[in-house]
Amino acid sequence: QITIDKIAAGEVIERPASVVKELVENAIDAGSTAVTVEIEEGGISLIRITDNGCGIAKQDVENAFLRHSTSKIRSAEDLTHLSSLGFRGEALSSISAVARVELITKTREDVFGTKYIIEGGKGRTPEETGAPDGTTFLVRQLFFNTPARRKFLKTPMTEASHISDLLTRLALSHPDISFRFINNGQVKLHTSGNGKMKDVIYHIYGREIANNLIPLEFEKDGVRLSGYLGKPVINRGNRNFENYFVNGRYVRNSILAKAIEDGYKDFTMQHRYPFVAFQIEINPEKIDVNVHPSKMELRFSNQQGIYNLLYEAISKGLHEPEL
Ligand code: ADP
Ligand code: MG
Repeated sequence: QITIDKIAAGEVIERPASVVKELVENAIDAGSTAVTVEIEEGGISLIRITDNGCGIAKQDVENAFLRHSTSKIRSAEDLTHLSSLGFRGEALSSISAVARVELITKTREDVFGTKYIIEGGKGRTPEETGAPDGTTFLVRQLFFNTPARRKFLKTPMTEASHISDLLTRLALSHPDISFRFINNGQVKLHTSGNGKMKDVIYHIYGREIANNLIPLEFEKDGVRLSGYLGKPVINRGNRNFENYFVNGRYVRNSILAKAIEDGYKDFTMQHRYPFVAFQIEINPEKIDVNVHPSKMELRFSNQQGIYNLLYEAISKGLHEPEL
């Protein structure tokens, strides 16, 4: 079992940012309103994630680390839904197979919390401990027992920037959660969690972009768009400023990118890459998220339809009189 977990871990856990992604998504699923991520050495030597969510009851702690164990309701239909962020029940087993993990967790109902240590898939006996409501994961020495994988890691600076990018997107797509990111003791990100995407944009991208936003609200054929378009004066050299979230999840999709860029280009003639940040809400049955295990890529069943819709929304947004 431990060997299989180590192999399976390779699919889920590629680098420190994968650990952060899985654990923060779990924290979001647990109903947290505040999540703190601390890393040292790009997350290779240490990742600590603290949330104020529902916690895990003592009798469920060991189970949570078993492969394919999940408390999230599952049905054939549920698998096509994105409502619950994680859906494979593989994250904790994978992470604990390739790192030294310490968990401290407490539910609101329990008087005491639980501390559980599991290293390279080998767990100790859970112990009672004093703890605040919520969950803290400490993940140390990632890939300590899989040196071949460790070799593929980049410099701590590069690994840290992957984590920073990830948290930026999570903060943008969840303005109602306060995110704090601390890298080697320095606070790099701290969002308020007040629910306003514009405030998160200001915090992350600064005044120039925040002062040049056009609100985007568009609905057609059961697809809803909401968020912000950067005014065309914001013109960037790459796609890193194109943020779109499908049913709450950050994705990359060439059809969406093309619709966005065409919409801007046809408006200004010589535009390159804009700033955008918006949510797309769509019936989950009209998308396929299982294209890639990282779930960052997705496919729409009606590609031309989504292109036309987004292009129309962008064109309309850019033509609003307030410009
Ligand atoms: P999945 O998220 O697909 O259910 P995971 O391996 O990521 O699988 O997590 C296993 C289980 O551990 C979850 O279903 C959940 O019950 C519990 N869990 C993990 N992290 C947290 C957390 N931060 N707060 C509360 N429960 C958690
Ligand atoms: Mg999960």
